[in-house]
Amino acid sequence: MNLTSPRVIKDIQQKFGFTFKKGLGQNFLTSQDILDDIVDALGDESAVLEIGPGFGTLTAALAERMDKVVSIEIDERLLDVLDYTLEEFNNIKIINGDALKLDLHALIREEFGDRKISVAANLPYYITTPVITTLLENKLPLNSIVVMVQKEVAERLTALPGSKDYGAITVMCRYFSEPSIVTKVPSSLFLPPPKVDSAVLKLRLRETPAVDVRDEKMFFRVVKAAFSQRRKTLLNCMCANFPFTKDDMASILSKNGIEPSRRGETLSLEEFALIADSMNKMKDFAKEQSPPV
Ligand code: SAM
Repeated sequence: MNLTSPRVIKDIQQKFGFTFKKGLGQNFLTSQDILDDIVDALGDESAVLEIGPGFGTLTAALAERMDKVVSIEIDERLLDVLDYTLEEFNNIKIINGDALKLDLHALIREEFGDRKISVAANLPYYITTPVITTLLENKLPLNSIVVMVQKEVAERLTALPGSKDYGAITVMCRYFSEPSIVTKVPSSLFLPPPKVDSAVLKLRLRETPAVDVRDEKMFFRVVKAAFSQRRKTLLNCMCANFPFTKDDMASILSKNGIEPSRRGETLSLEEFALIADSMNKMKDFAKEQSPPV
């Protein structure tokens, strides 16, 4: 069954009385070339977790090359459709649920044992950021994440310091992974076509984070603070978020060779790490100085 054919999609819709739900981001991919790009980007991976199979277009393409595909679909109406469209495969398991609410650590352990896997998805736009954040921050056993996202999101997640797209989420992505854009995808290749263009994004997970930090929580607090008000200087942003005087904060930055008048979006991951480690030292010093209670 050619699930990328608009004719076939319409026939299945008719057979099951299925109407697209905009609120669930139901825009189905109609390009075999893009499916191939997604599967190719997974390299020699053999086990994949998919989010949002829809009619099973990407699911089938994955199952043709992988040992095992587990796919999470929130829309109950699609379960019968998927039984029909994926009938010929015996290496696919569909789970009915919300990818953001399931315990993904437990699910991966149960379905794949101790092996590392990858995630593939044509993500509904409304859950793109929470899904990527959840997958990265929860330190799941993943090799890579290959996802279709809104083009602007892909540009943001692959941005370099100094560009307008570089933000806290870019830093988080680079900290845990090596991000790259696989290919851009015009909206005309979906049914129904969404209002925006898309891109396939690949996040290759790092064995260890991109920079060494003493305290990851402090690192992300510093990153969040630095981007809290994009038009303000780094010094002002930091002072608004940490209990230090302007002089102390300016001295922390200068000691690390960072000009306090810079903006957060110009800092590299290494510079964020230097600031976070200095803040930690100050915290430890303050603890040592305070009398025991
Ligand atoms: N994979 C298909 C394709 O490429 O044509 C469909 C992709 S469509 C953009 C997104 C799919 O994700 C829909 O089937 C939708 O029902 C499902 N979905 C939406 N929110 C979800 C969630 N929170 N958890 C799991 N699936 C979800």
